[in-house]
Amino acid sequence: MEQAFRTACILCRRSMRLGPSFGEGRHIAAWNVAVCHPCRAENPDGPDLERYPRLAAYLRSKGLVGTGAQAGFVPWPPDREAA
Ligand SMILES: [Zn+2]
Repeated sequence: MEQAFRTACILCRRSMRLGPSFGEGRHIAAWNVAVCHPCRAENPDGPDLERYPRLAAYLRSKGLVGTGAQAGFVPWPPDREAA
């Protein structure tokens, strides 16, 4: 049985299964968050911190974005997984 890792999208909180055969979302290793495909597709250039305050707070708590970044887009980190 293939392992299904059920988690929630950091942006919309939709529950999803990660894994190649499910294809509902992907894990972003650099941020250690999961994002579902619809959210990723909706934000091709990166999530808007003003629109997703939960993500903004999380990234700030991890030091992944500067505290000066009050609003605006953060680019998605480069994918380290093979396409
Ligand atoms: Zn989502």
